Amino acid sequence: MDIGGLETVVANSAYVAARGDLDGGGGGGGGGGGGRDRKMHARLKLPHVLRLDEVQARVLALYPSPSSPTLPSFEQVCHLEPIGRHLFRQFLETHKLFRPAGELLQACEDLDMSEESERLKKGQKIIAEHMDDKKPASFCSFLSAAAMEAARAHGSFAEALAETTEFLQSRTLAEYVESPRYLRYLQFKWLEMQPIGEEWFSDFRVLGKGGFGEVCACQAKATGKLYANKKLNKKRLKKRGGYEGALVEKVILEKLHSRFIVSLSYAFQSKLELCLVMTIMNGGDLRFHIYDVDDANQGFPEARAFFYAAQIVCGLEHLHQNRIVYRDLKPENVLLDDMGHVRLSDLGLAIEMKEGQDMTKGYAGTPGFMAPELLKGEAYDYSVDYFTLGVTIYEMIQAKGPFRYRGEKVENKEVKRRILEDDASYSERFSADCRATCKALLTKDPAMRLGFRDGSCGELKKHGLFASINWGRLQAGLLDPPFVPDSKTVYAKDVNEVGAFSSVRGVNLVEEDKAFFDSFSTGSIPIPWQEEIIETGVFEELNLWPADGSLPDNLCK
Ligand code: ADP
Ligand code: MG
Ligand code: MG
Repeated sequence: MDIGGLETVVANSAYVAARGDLDGGGGGGGGGGGGRDRKMHARLKLPHVLRLDEVQARVLALYPSPSSPTLPSFEQVCHLEPIGRHLFRQFLETHKLFRPAGELLQACEDLDMSEESERLKKGQKIIAEHMDDKKPASFCSFLSAAAMEAARAHGSFAEALAETTEFLQSRTLAEYVESPRYLRYLQFKWLEMQPIGEEWFSDFRVLGKGGFGEVCACQAKATGKLYANKKLNKKRLKKRGGYEGALVEKVILEKLHSRFIVSLSYAFQSKLELCLVMTIMNGGDLRFHIYDVDDANQGFPEARAFFYAAQIVCGLEHLHQNRIVYRDLKPENVLLDDMGHVRLSDLGLAIEMKEGQDMTKGYAGTPGFMAPELLKGEAYDYSVDYFTLGVTIYEMIQAKGPFRYRGEKVENKEVKRRILEDDASYSERFSADCRATCKALLTKDPAMRLGFRDGSCGELKKHGLFASINWGRLQAGLLDPPFVPDSKTVYAKDVNEVGAFSSVRGVNLVEEDKAFFDSFSTGSIPIPWQEEIIETGVFEELNLWPADGSLPDNLCK
């Protein structure tokens, strides 16, 4: 074995071992403490209640309530943030009057994610417990007659859920923020807001190469969670005018929270680099799986292609609901995790449309994927992403693009002409349903193209092969993927094949650059940070309450 091969074996085994350490715990990069660094773990300590004034003020400033200057946003603090949500639910559980509402909320959420076969039974249980005024301990008196009637007559719990949320928001928040559970929430926010630097992470092998630096597997030392660390060399960024793009990617990723898009957990800087710490996707990208796994059988069976396509649709829908045009959907940018679920990655070409703006311009994307209206230099909207979805589905099935073969020597001008003028042709690998969906997505006129309408992909989700997918369960991550990557395989190039960067010369970093780097390096991103703390068991270790109902020491003033 040559030195490069040996290097890869050594790098792979450390990385595969780190992944293995985490199995048995949460799995999938979670884990129950395997691979933690004891010293860094000890730094995750909740502050004393007397040190919370500043964080309390920051929470109010960052997440103001739309209705009161002295309360934080219910949505943010009790619903969106996972730790906030846990502590709020605990508050409800321990409260005599609010408890039934808390239980009803939980039951309605469970119902939403249940399999069809269980729904009837679960629905009847909710009606028996929370809609019967002869059971005063669990009856939810705030429900309207109409909401209870909808549940009894039609098995529809949407109104009950909406009324419960409304009740909790308007009646419990003021009391909650005066309770010990909210102080505990502030203790965790304090921890979350601590400055983050490279000492919190250790690097494993390189996973891929980006335009401004390597992407490495890394581990959060304090919790043991594995991530991907996308590094952007500061001088290279400056030399090639990469500041704006780097910031766009960071700002967009930190805003999005979807299981179908890689999530950003930390943004920090080291001496030489800006770092984006993201969901690690160990299973490789779709291009690799289409072409390089089995040379004799390239391309996926339809069912597999449509499973990925459905997850991509969920990702696109989330982007578009957040006013973001992706512009660079292609198999290479869709990555698999340990379980075989996929997420969209590389949002460097994405663009956010301002409130009230509904069209954008600009040449961006990958030849062979870009929609006709974009190629013609016209203004366009989210619909360009459904054209690229059509190209991507076609390629997953045929192992060849509709307008361009892989490796074909063809000028971009000719590819452009084909996209503008030619119709794709479909082999016998496409069923009639599948062909219909591809055609609807590859429609040249954006106004006629299948896609995002009135705030959702509702129509697309009912089209062709998509119609057979249980979207509720897919959205909740409950459908089994058609293929599970091997946990011992590293789906990345050998370390010595990734390719090195040349050194950057003649660039000086001045105060203005440093100011930009500081503004980029905002530390932990709340929702993913809280997920990490819960998933790795740290939340449970720290969220202790004396059994006799007294206050924990660190909450005694
Ligand atoms: P750039 O925007 O500079 O092209 P990318 O975001 O595409 O950078 O990342 C470069 C490469 O790093 C990808 O092609 C992929 O191989 C790898 N990579 C990127 N993000 C992840 C991730 N979250 N998990 C695993 N590998 C990744
Ligand atoms: Mg890339
Ligand atoms: Mg990019």
